Amino acid sequence: MTQKAGIKIKSQTKREINPRKDEPSQNQERALEQEKMKKLLASGAAVRNVVGINNSVLRAKTKKVEIFDKRLWALLEDMKLTTLYSIGVGLAAPQIAISKKIVVVMVNDAEFEFINPEISNEEGESILMEGCLSLPSSMDCLVKRPQKLTLTYQDRHGVKHVDNFEGILARIICHEVDHLNGILFIDKKYTPTAEEITKVQ
Ligand SMILES: [Zn+2]
Repeated sequence: MTQKAGIKIKSQTKREINPRKDEPSQNQERALEQEKMKKLLASGAAVRNVVGINNSVLRAKTKKVEIFDKRLWALLEDMKLTTLYSIGVGLAAPQIAISKKIVVVMVNDAEFEFINPEISNEEGESILMEGCLSLPSSMDCLVKRPQKLTLTYQDRHGVKHVDNFEGILARIICHEVDHLNGILFIDKKYTPTAEEITKVQ
């Protein structure tokens, strides 16, 4: 997912939420990301090709991960490098043509790996601009997402976790888990009422 973080229609942020690189804090963030990229490259990770909207893999249901081995770990590192290289905040495996339930999220200095993630217990509402590394930015649109959610997932060792997420993290997780079910954010395009536009601005 690209990040249109902040809760404003007009706010500008990253792809799979595009940073404005002219701002000092974003330059700093980019420098940190470049350090992470160097480390990933040094450890043997590779940037994968991100497929576009016309690739049917984006519409296919994904398979559960059953084997938690070095191949999975290498794939996770490739996905993280690909996310950083693409200036994104999250990536789902179908976006690199791998139809498996694997998601990485990299935002605000934090990184997450979610294997076989399932969302439960959604709470609240948030309407924000979204974009996707697999779609042109001209298709960015508003999407209504829960403000909070509970996520059940496994880590890279197969250990099960149940955690709560909110705000932009909840949004990114929803976007990426949708990818695992063949759903794109444009399927959920939200058209605000005149009243809502006034509120958001
Ligand atoms: Zn996406």
